[in-house]
Amino acid sequence: MTARIIDGKAAAAAVLAEVKARVDAFRATKGRPPGLAVVLVGEDPASQVYVRNKGREAEAAGFRSEQHTLPVTTSQADLLALVARVNADPGIDGILVQLPLPKDIDAETVLTAIDPAKDVDGFHPVNVGLLGSGATDRALVPCTPAGSMILIESVLGPSLAGKHAVVVGRSNIVGKPIAQLLLQRDATVTIAHSRTADLAALCRQADVLVAAVGRPEMVRGDWVKPGAVVIDVGINRIPAPEKGEGKTRLVGDVAYAEAAAVASAITPVPGGVGPMTIALLMANTVTAAHLREGLARPR
Ligand code: NDP
Repeated sequence: MTARIIDGKAAAAAVLAEVKARVDAFRATKGRPPGLAVVLVGEDPASQVYVRNKGREAEAAGFRSEQHTLPVTTSQADLLALVARVNADPGIDGILVQLPLPKDIDAETVLTAIDPAKDVDGFHPVNVGLLGSGATDRALVPCTPAGSMILIESVLGPSLAGKHAVVVGRSNIVGKPIAQLLLQRDATVTIAHSRTADLAALCRQADVLVAAVGRPEMVRGDWVKPGAVVIDVGINRIPAPEKGEGKTRLVGDVAYAEAAAVASAITPVPGGVGPMTIALLMANTVTAAHLREGLARPR
């Protein structure tokens, strides 16, 4: 079997086209665009790239977009003061504080200070609780998990009844919320992690296998059940001497070629889950804008 390649770029483009249409309708109704504020503290190069891309995408979607770049020496009190200011700005619907934060700042304190109604990353305890209690009509759901679900739905449809989903990874950002979303779609869900015994045998039972580990190509082809749908969330940069000295390339948490020979469908890295994350950030901002203005939640 050769797996269908799940095209995350195309799926993200479809989400962004819908976002654009909703922004136009929102602006026509409310006389203003949705607003997104992105906060970056320090000069982490990967974070700078992410923040730049988010700003560009927000502008392309027709948002009011603002970026706050603070020096690495910023105190927690100053960052909290900025969060309070954007919380109070009626034209801002979404606030994203780029992680990781410098080590002297407590990320949980900062994320909890964001108005839950503007928490487009979905990391605030209120949104975590709403997702956990199944109130997805009111929750803002983390972007990577929500994007992964759209890719799974594109292959298997909305119901996962009767399917066994195995999620490898239990982070608050990826593993746990994906598991919640899979459960809501009626999958039978197993969450695996670094203390799980015989991970390979467990993965082989999965109809839907989600890898969110952060270990390059850890999931091998013989861990994949024939016909399974494989979602590779991992983004790992590894040396690529074949491209020249000092060169690198991106790989996922799944050994792609091996797994693609066994699975029915698989996400590539890059071009799978990655593009969905930023698209869902834009979708969450539109959703937050609608909910804040008392409009019906877009799908
Ligand atoms: P974390 O490091 O927070 O979590 C990793 C999880 O993997 C932990 O639960 C850990 O278990 C588990 N794990 C680590 N080693 C093993 C192992 N040998 N066997 C089984 N489980 C293991 O990472 P994130 O969840 O934040 O990210 C996961 C991956 O997804 C990374 O590659 C990251 O770059 C990528 N990512 C991609 C995004 C995208 O847009 N596509 C967005 C966010 C992340 P334990 O809890 O026991 O330590």
